[in-house]
Amino acid sequence: PALFEPDRRNSRGWDLAHGPHLAQIEAARAPSRSAHFNAAPRLAGPVRAETAAPRHSPSDPTDLVGWVQEASARDVATALAHARPWNIPERRCAEVLRQAADLYEAHAGEIFALLAREAGKTLPDAVGELREAVDFLRYYAARIDGLAAPARGLFVCISPWNFPLAIFTGQIAAALAAGNAVIAKPAEQTPLIAHLATGLLHEAGVPPECLQLLPGDGRIGAQLTSDRRVTGIAFTGSTETARLIQRAMATHMAPGTPLIAETGGLNAMIVDSTALPEQAVRDVIASAFQSAGQRCSALRCLYVQEDIAPGFLAMLQGAMAELNPGAPWELSSDLGPLIDAECHAAIASHVATARAEGRVIWEGRAPREGHFQAPVAIRVPGIEAIEREIFGPVLHVATFAGGELDRVVEAVNATGYGLTFGLHSRIDDRVERIAGRLAVGNVYVNRNQIGAVVGSQPFGGEGLSGTGPKAGGPHYLPRFTERPAPEAHV
Ligand code: GLU
Repeated sequence: PALFEPDRRNSRGWDLAHGPHLAQIEAARAPSRSAHFNAAPRLAGPVRAETAAPRHSPSDPTDLVGWVQEASARDVATALAHARPWNIPERRCAEVLRQAADLYEAHAGEIFALLAREAGKTLPDAVGELREAVDFLRYYAARIDGLAAPARGLFVCISPWNFPLAIFTGQIAAALAAGNAVIAKPAEQTPLIAHLATGLLHEAGVPPECLQLLPGDGRIGAQLTSDRRVTGIAFTGSTETARLIQRAMATHMAPGTPLIAETGGLNAMIVDSTALPEQAVRDVIASAFQSAGQRCSALRCLYVQEDIAPGFLAMLQGAMAELNPGAPWELSSDLGPLIDAECHAAIASHVATARAEGRVIWEGRAPREGHFQAPVAIRVPGIEAIEREIFGPVLHVATFAGGELDRVVEAVNATGYGLTFGLHSRIDDRVERIAGRLAVGNVYVNRNQIGAVVGSQPFGGEGLSGTGPKAGGPHYLPRFTERPAPEAHV
């Protein structure tokens, strides 16, 4: 496939450093500060959801964000029975997706508010997320041209709570652009934003039988992923859940049914003694603590060369002390909450173990109400000591001697994960050699390792981190058709 789309531009986004612009954003999101949102199945047939449950904000247990009617088993059956592929000319399909992008932008205030209240996103995170969602819509619209392969039929799209708008939208846009019907199962923690987004996609012109929404928990996913009428699955979430889906598909679905999975990571960064410390510290902070570390791309294990370690870690501590965890609605907050009590308990227990073993290097403070976790740095001998993906603002730190670089690269590869990697070094040969030996999807040199940009940094991993092809890249769409391009397997 061609590398660029001449007529497409990424969203300009919203400039939070520009006073008048910021004031406009604040005014736009204010009316949704105390509004109540609703989520329910959106089906092409009758809805049988039974009860509505209240949904509270992860940052404030007294903030009732809205009400959710989870889909019943009957609703899942209705969705499967009514799904129809989107049989329209390519040009019209692209127009509808672009129209959806415009509608998303027109609803920015409401979307920012809901991202803060339901998903705990700070305003900068919410702005980045809306941009990415809009970029996915326009990018896949631009890539329909030249796809020239029949749709597969019905895609189930299962999306995560950490990008409840961007990844939710990206999966759906790709499946629709390739001509498929979609049944979307959003994360159980973020149904309200999914419901709002689905409404905008319908308003833009996607017919109800081509896009149906089933809010609810893993039981819905299990019912969908074991139905033979489903001809493809796009999934972003944990490696464990991807395994369950794979198993269900092997038992119930036709051989060759594609699973496009983007899963976990155990991501490392190396800072060698030639790195520019001020820049590296900034990039460590962003990589480990932005979005409260709730990105699969986030930095989990930092390797600092031992001869610069004392000074570098002192600077890092200083920068960590400046971080302000707090209510995501407030502009002064750098980190929002963890998504729910379960995630919070898992992170807190990991930190408590490190504390008991005397391995905490530095720990900040966090508000008591809500699921806040203070940013923390923990000493480890190496990445192999981290047993699983720790999905929160926890940075593990190891040191290495000059002659040990190859050993570090081997240890990183040996985790079996392969998502992102960061490298701070001013030695070009070294950068090239290390990048060439790493089995990871996205390598970032002398910058942070989060926030891949649609169209210019296709995002995805290998090994335990995903199946590929990368989202936001030229090989993604063909995988949603009957005849994937050969490169789609890369
Ligand atoms: N694409 C995001 C990034 O580059 C991460 C996606 C995820 O966390 O699932 O930071």
